[in-house]
Amino acid sequence: MAKEFAIEWIEENKERIIRVSDAIWEFAELGLREFKSSKLLADELERHGFRVERGVAGMPTAFVATWGSGKPVIGIMGEYDALPGLSQKVVPWREPLVPGAPGHGCGHNIHGASGTAAAVAVKVAMEREGLEGTVKFFGCPAEENFGGKVFMVRDGLFEGVDAVLSHHPGTMNAVTLKSSLAVSSVRFHFHGKAAHASASPEEGRSALDAVQLMNIGVEFMREHVPQDARIHYVVERGGGQPNIVPEYARAWYYIRAPEWEEVERIYSWVVDIARGAALMTQTRVEVEFLGGVYNLIPNRVLAELVVKNMREVGLPQYSEEDLAFAREIAKTIPLEAKIDQLRRSGRPGWEKLVDKLIDDEVPDPWGEGEIMHASTDVADVSWQAPTLEFSTATWILGTPGHSWQAVAQSAAGVGHKALIFASKVMAASAIDLLTKPELIERAKGEQRRRLAGRAYRSPLPPGFKPPLDAWER
Ligand SMILES: [Zn+2]
Repeated sequence: MAKEFAIEWIEENKERIIRVSDAIWEFAELGLREFKSSKLLADELERHGFRVERGVAGMPTAFVATWGSGKPVIGIMGEYDALPGLSQKVVPWREPLVPGAPGHGCGHNIHGASGTAAAVAVKVAMEREGLEGTVKFFGCPAEENFGGKVFMVRDGLFEGVDAVLSHHPGTMNAVTLKSSLAVSSVRFHFHGKAAHASASPEEGRSALDAVQLMNIGVEFMREHVPQDARIHYVVERGGGQPNIVPEYARAWYYIRAPEWEEVERIYSWVVDIARGAALMTQTRVEVEFLGGVYNLIPNRVLAELVVKNMREVGLPQYSEEDLAFAREIAKTIPLEAKIDQLRRSGRPGWEKLVDKLIDDEVPDPWGEGEIMHASTDVADVSWQAPTLEFSTATWILGTPGHSWQAVAQSAAGVGHKALIFASKVMAASAIDLLTKPELIERAKGEQRRRLAGRAYRSPLPPGFKPPLDAWER
């Protein structure tokens, strides 16, 4: 009965849950600046009797909300950061709400709201049924850029948590067993000497030359790194104007690979290349580490549990209005892009989704042994406790990630239905974990097997603090 109570609570409170999600969508705050968004979620949880600890792990917008006591301890995570420049109205064409402002291109408004709703629903059901245990909601800032969860893990906030659930908006009802890429983010500052580039070039030493030679060195290194590694960079500063030898230049790199150890090895090679470039150009280089995350440890026990609950809860029904908006959005997405995305998903039988507007199935978990070529700080949590992040069809099939189409749909009908569906699935799965100790034992056993021979060391150097001033720099 506990599950029915939780699902009923979400159904009865769906207008409010949608309002919370839409409010965060409108706030559209960047990572580590999610002041209004995190407050709204923390206040919601507090109102329902959760003990809320705000400003954890050195981040004013991170919080942990706890209800209940003793074992098991079930964790639910929520994110609420937006992306720069993606502001968008709820219309099926590109039109910013506030030109140049951030927007929820990854649907993290739904991420935070679904987790919060699920946590409250679980609490309501626990109270009515007199269930033992603890439910903890983790308010996780800055997923898109600074890896907020990595700081929360380092501060021990996930110690004693038995299993963790998280919901991410997507184009599919997808529970995969894929891993993700570990990544580190690093900036190289080169300092040279300014001079008149024509009258006295011999007096100057070009920091831009160093950046260019560094990038070329990295291009040659590429041949000798593991197949799935990804290295990408931008030149953030390259000098003022052509008649001045650039005295300062800098490049910003992401280094990704299937295992953190591989990232570390490539990282130190890239640092050597930067030093070599400085030596060649008689400039000086400063290395600024900006953050890192691990690779994801999948969990089949949790994946199967969530799939079972998706099927039990049942996929949402859409109104004619929901579908009309979705069809208009579909006109802006080229068929080839949709096919590429479906193929990339690796979902068995993806071909039959080509002609569909919205994913209308709940497939079995897939992707064991595969890697998604992206990174997430959920990964660091997955080394601490069995963890599963699932997605639901929030956007129509083919919607690109981090796009205006994703922003618009994250506050429209299909998105709202996905939010309510995901909240119910998460609550039902959490209740199964609370009431069936053997599930947690099996999930933990699987996590131990997958981690055998590997250990987690925080990717953050000692004393490294969240970059609270990052947006001012
Ligand atoms: Zn995201």
